[in-house]
Amino acid sequence: MKINADWHRTNKMPRCPTMDQRVVWHVAHAKNCSCRPLDGKMLGEIKKRKIKV
Ligand SMILES: [Zn+2]
Repeated sequence: MKINADWHRTNKMPRCPTMDQRVVWHVAHAKNCSCRPLDGKMLGEIKKRKIKV
């Protein structure tokens, strides 16, 4: 597991994110950093939106 601290510094999760914002954040996060794997629930939301990770 490796944290991409630079990416985290420039990509903060909004304070009260909507599900859409969370999905966008997690998709971008998965592409740039591997500190936290996508969990089942978030993966379900991503699949529901037909986003490729
Ligand atoms: Zn991360």
